[in-house]
Amino acid sequence: MAVIRPRVAPRTPHGDNPVAAQTRALVAYGGATQVVSVDLPALSPGDVLVRVSVAGVCGCVRDAAQGSRDGTATMVLGHEGVGTVEAVGRGMEALTVDGVSLAPGMRVTWGREVACGECHACVRTRPCRTPRVVGQQSLHGPWTLSGSLAQAMVLPAGALIALVPTAVPDVIASLTGCAVASVASAFAAAGDVEAKRLVVLGAGVQGLVAVAMAAELGARSVTIVDPRAVRRQRALEFGADAALAPAPGYPRHDVVLDVSGGAGALGPAVEALDPGGIAVVGRTSHQRLTLDIDVARLSRERITLTGVGPMRGAHLQKAVDFLATSYATRPWGSVVCPPVPWSAVTALPPLPDELGSRVTVAMERKVAADRALLYS
Ligand SMILES: [Zn+2]
Ligand SMILES: [Zn+2]
Repeated sequence: MAVIRPRVAPRTPHGDNPVAAQTRALVAYGGATQVVSVDLPALSPGDVLVRVSVAGVCGCVRDAAQGSRDGTATMVLGHEGVGTVEAVGRGMEALTVDGVSLAPGMRVTWGREVACGECHACVRTRPCRTPRVVGQQSLHGPWTLSGSLAQAMVLPAGALIALVPTAVPDVIASLTGCAVASVASAFAAAGDVEAKRLVVLGAGVQGLVAVAMAAELGARSVTIVDPRAVRRQRALEFGADAALAPAPGYPRHDVVLDVSGGAGALGPAVEALDPGGIAVVGRTSHQRLTLDIDVARLSRERITLTGVGPMRGAHLQKAVDFLATSYATRPWGSVVCPPVPWSAVTALPPLPDELGSRVTVAMERKVAADRALLYS
């Protein structure tokens, strides 16, 4: 059995961890992925050790695995997930985003980024300019167990952590920290959408979340745009009022949310914004898109183009609150694939179906109950 031992010396004496001294984790190195045993690090003050229940395999995970191709980084993959607090590093209180003191046994989820705590913005209690991404940290650096595709992970001081209501099944809650919180960030950037006409670009997981969130926020209508007919159809079943293939000539609207990952439909959607409208570009990894924009019109009609910026605690809490109300009323079973059992994982699970449903990995047996709820 391969065992990876972090080169970094423990900062406090070992012995605080009430779980096994090792955990199994899905690690990327040199473009390949494998499950290995990793030593549990000693916890620094405020570190939260989480026993993972379900981890999501979002697109960022595949990007991170690809990014390890040059062989310079070995990392535990995965940032979406839900789990249970196992221990908190002594010497500093660890708080949720709404101020609850974390303790063993609490069911939690977490945001995809952790503030560095040192940059100018952090010092001034602004969103961090150089956040560390969960599941993209070197196994040989100071934050070894950074990924959620493991039986246990560490969330360091500064992590965005939220409690998860008991009623929300693990497989749905596992979407919170990346997909749902990213969409919550986009809505925060868009401002009040009540009674407005929305166009959502991209009918992947984030697009479906956007459809449901828009309805909850009182949008007048939601039109989803995606080149794939099967995804457009699923978006309609999820509650979109209309679904279109990308093409010039969209109906007039007030808000554009681009959660397509930079797929290129932004230009015509901005063209069809009414005066005072706003277009928000969601989180994308590295796509570049050249837009032909009538800047005079931006000024004349007060059109806004913006992005989402760093994730904040309020976005994560909004994501949890949203799932708490919508988990039972939307067809989430069509968004999340049945979880892969951890015992069957030997490498990064294959790509999802053409619909782009979220692949998840279940670490604990109790997820079987969730599965019955979702897929019966
Ligand atoms: Zn992600
Ligand atoms: Zn910072």
